[in-house]
Amino acid sequence: MNSAQPPASHFVGGAYIEDAAGAPFECIYPATGEVIARLHAATPAIIERALVSANRAQKEWAALAPVARGRVLRRAADILRERNQELSELETLDTGKPIQETLVADATSGADALEYFGGIAASITGETIPLGQDFAFTTREPLGVCVGIGAWNYPTQIACWKAAPALACGNAMVFKPSELTPLGALKLAEILIEAGAPAGLFNVVQGAGEVGARLIANPLVAKVSLTGSVPTGRKVYAAAADGIRHVTMELGGKSPLIIFEDADIENAVSAAINANFYSTGQICSNGTRVFVHEDIRVDFLERLAARTANARIGDPLNPQTNVGPLISSAQRDKVLAFIAAGRAEGARLVIGGGIPQDQHSGGFFIEPTIFDGVTDDMTIAREEIFGPVLSLLSFKDEAEVVGRANGTEFGLAAGVFTSDIKRGHRIAAALEAGTCWINTYNLTPVEMPFGGVKQSGVGRENARAAIEHYTQIKTVYVAMGDVEAPY
Ligand code: NAD
Repeated sequence: MNSAQPPASHFVGGAYIEDAAGAPFECIYPATGEVIARLHAATPAIIERALVSANRAQKEWAALAPVARGRVLRRAADILRERNQELSELETLDTGKPIQETLVADATSGADALEYFGGIAASITGETIPLGQDFAFTTREPLGVCVGIGAWNYPTQIACWKAAPALACGNAMVFKPSELTPLGALKLAEILIEAGAPAGLFNVVQGAGEVGARLIANPLVAKVSLTGSVPTGRKVYAAAADGIRHVTMELGGKSPLIIFEDADIENAVSAAINANFYSTGQICSNGTRVFVHEDIRVDFLERLAARTANARIGDPLNPQTNVGPLISSAQRDKVLAFIAAGRAEGARLVIGGGIPQDQHSGGFFIEPTIFDGVTDDMTIAREEIFGPVLSLLSFKDEAEVVGRANGTEFGLAAGVFTSDIKRGHRIAAALEAGTCWINTYNLTPVEMPFGGVKQSGVGRENARAAIEHYTQIKTVYVAMGDVEAPY
């Protein structure tokens, strides 16, 4: 029996707190269906306390020298790395993702964000604008109290990707993890205190959408950053608009991965596997529409199917496992319904398509699934599945594939494989996507901006670009001469 019970549900004002009046909910280990923690959703009193604590801590924090703020974030990064094993095990229990993945992609990428933004905290500056004998200057001020709302696929990374730039810029944060993965963000809150952050600077409150909605509606909140689906994004954006609050929206996708006839086939197959089956397909930027040039479709599919058959599905805590369960039984049912739609609409099932026969653990497993002969109008080619389902579409020429790749409401990411460097750049320029990869897929180092266009989002996370989304500009005009007046 695995247990990951935290001392209490919420982390507010520098300590764990509980309010048993909040609706109880369970955290379930997706690999077995076991309850690993019992928590309570935040009551209005907890939410108010978190926001008031954040508001108080923000003033103290913003008054520190930026280099001192940066030091706290860099210390937190070091602690995350020192505890990577323990944090990765917890992330695996929280999400069901294989330990093979969590050891390299979760606390470690969170640490990268804290280190990166800790490093640039002291170089966030404004500009001086000459105006003849007068001049103006600008400063980048913090926004105040920011709310972060997370999805369940990368709970620790999402908390860090939001907290690191927010805190580096002098803001405080109240973070609400997904109700399906409440554990990782609590550890980040503990670690930030240990690293020297003031009590109340980073708070975690638990609960489902209504807790998020209540947070956003509070007048103390200056900004909301959401990672979630497009329908949730619409609601959160509208609620933020009501209070004229700043937003960052990291939403869903249905991204294209285009493979030309001159591509290195093994590399392209590796990318298609990573772009569809890593984290059991639960990645927003996944390249789920794999467009393969018709001249290489048969060879590509043969290698893709053969290599996918080697996937090791099972116990995520076993270091040999590379495909874990989906997050919940509801998500598994949703993905199975998409697979059924793919079959019903005439796509050809090449491999997978069901629950693995040897999985009797009570977990929410689905086999990595490949459909061939998918057409643009099929449900599986249009809607975000958020599960291990790859759709293979074939194409003849460049203009055609670009038009088809862009024929979606989403625009999070895209990839192109070709050995023609000019074509690679031409396609990347033509694709309507916030992030494009040439000859790789799904690499998101903190040094580069990440975010979507069209329905996939507003704003950018990571890199210097994130600074613009966690600061506001103050302009000061300085007069050096006399003031003229008409009378
Ligand atoms: P979701 O939209 O169901 O929930 C996201 C978060 O929003 C949860 O914490 C949820 O409790 C909260 N929420 C729901 N309704 C709310 C409301 N009315 N007000 C405030 N908060 C509310 O998404 P999910 O199922 O947790 O995650 C999967 C989705 O997230 C997919 O669409 C995926 O593409 C997207 N995603 C995007 C990125 C990105 O960076 N672009 C990263 C990961 C996941």
